[in-house]
Amino acid sequence: MDFGFTEQEEAGRQEIREFLRQELGTVRTWTTPGEAISKDFTRKLAEKGWLGVGWPTEYGGLGRPYTEQLIYSEETMYYGAPSGSHILAQNMVGPTLIRVGSEEQKREYLPRILRGEITFCLGYTEPNAGSDLANCQTTAVPEGDDFIINGQKMFTSFAGQADYAWMTVRTDPNAPKKHRGISMFIVDMKTPGITVRPLETMWDYSLYEVFFENVRVPKNAVVGELNQGWHYLTVALDHERVFMGGVVAQHRRFFGELVEYAKNTYRNGKPLSKDPIVRQRLAQLATDLEIGRLFAYRVAWILGKEVIPFAEASMTKIFTSELEQRLANTAMQILGLYGPLGRGSRAPFDGYAGWEYKFSLMQAVGGGSNEIERILIAIAGLGLPRP
Ligand SMILES: Cc1cc2nc3c(=O)[nH]c(=O)nc-3n(C[C@H](O)[C@H](O)[C@H](O)COP(=O)(O)OP(=O)(O)OC[C@H]3O[C@@H](n4cnc5c(N)ncnc54)[C@H](O)[C@@H]3O)c2cc1C
Repeated sequence: MDFGFTEQEEAGRQEIREFLRQELGTVRTWTTPGEAISKDFTRKLAEKGWLGVGWPTEYGGLGRPYTEQLIYSEETMYYGAPSGSHILAQNMVGPTLIRVGSEEQKREYLPRILRGEITFCLGYTEPNAGSDLANCQTTAVPEGDDFIINGQKMFTSFAGQADYAWMTVRTDPNAPKKHRGISMFIVDMKTPGITVRPLETMWDYSLYEVFFENVRVPKNAVVGELNQGWHYLTVALDHERVFMGGVVAQHRRFFGELVEYAKNTYRNGKPLSKDPIVRQRLAQLATDLEIGRLFAYRVAWILGKEVIPFAEASMTKIFTSELEQRLANTAMQILGLYGPLGRGSRAPFDGYAGWEYKFSLMQAVGGGSNEIERILIAIAGLGLPRP
């Protein structure tokens, strides 16, 4: 079994790394997801073709294997590139449209995603539909050649900046099972009747609630077939997991900095690196990071076989988010009283550890809570009956 990358993959990694070093410099900075939005930077990535690394060439992508998509994610996230504006369109909307979208939708959206011109937000969660997404109560009712949407979405990341919403709506209120009456829509966020309201978070995140009041959209807003939204939602979520490799890479970078800090910092006259508890914790994290990396590689490998990695994607999500919490926790233990201090203070890493400690809490909830992911593993991975 060969875990190495091919020469071409390694060359691709070097090219991306070089580009990022030139664009971002070598001084370590960090941004919150809310700040990591740069349409200019997105366009530069687009010029290189990197917004469609793993997309088929017939749709304008580079046609590279998923492993290269993963390498791209690893490098951009390791170096903290501002990817907040395009990541959803690139990793989720585009690949799902390629699988299930109409030819008209592919022509309309794919080239603009690849050029870095448009961004999407994800409208799944509602006040009464979080873990139970099938309980979606936002409705789309046909009227002439259009649909009229009414309802509310909740916790919608980047809704204030996005050009389009990729969202679930109820189109058949009488479906025998709740999830069978849901469709996926693409809605222009500038359509009259949409109100976007920011939500305050602990981590300066771009989070919103979105209200739809008699929002008129054309019939071609429906992705694929009517009432098949539930299937598209699961396909889209599993495609998103390919970028978990990037998340692990982001943690590897912080971990490396933490190790350096332990080597160079003295406490009570002794280097932190000689403290047995610090050493144990760091060694455990190094182990976890390796596991997280292999999980992410496995998901990319399965996707490359044109199979949807239902259980494996959930395992990766759980492990990576909990690893992030352990990393943040260890960082706070090592930094002691400097840990919670914010940006611009005397805190090491310009306050990143304190921010990450708060942010890592949300990782076990955002993108589907870990409890629900475990339920999915029991069903899809172990073949256990639904609860
Ligand atoms: C920062 C952030 C960004 C987000 N971005 C988006 C976005 O862009 N688009 C979007 O649509 N959503 C987004 N979400 C919403 C996120 O997906 C939901 O918060 C998540 O799915 C949980 O739903 P909920 O908040 O309604 O909690 P609930 O569903 O009310 O769950 C509350 C708690 O109960 C547990 N629970 C619920 N049901 C079960 C069960 N059957 N068995 C065991 N435990 C259970 C859950 O695990 C959770 O811990 C975001 C959330 C956050 C925090």
